[in-house]
Amino acid sequence: MYNIGLCKICKQGLLEIVKNEKTNKIYICCDECEAEWDLPSDALCPQNGTRGKYGKSIYPSLSEINRLNWDVDIFEHHN
Ligand SMILES: [Zn+2]
Repeated sequence: MYNIGLCKICKQGLLEIVKNEKTNKIYICCDECEAEWDLPSDALCPQNGTRGKYGKSIYPSLSEINRLNWDVDIFEHHN
């Protein structure tokens, strides 16, 4: 699984890159406070965060993430 760094809101969680199981939309979700963002740039500010907007999430593959051409550093982590 992959993340873009530490959550700026709770300062504990990882900003995980996750994918909605049904729609395949890839977004950012903190694994501690569960704040979510559509865009990684917003997560790093942070601005425009939401909670509970998306349904069940799964982890996308690195190739799926790379297809988005996000202009942020991407780190790998293991639970
Ligand atoms: Zn957080």
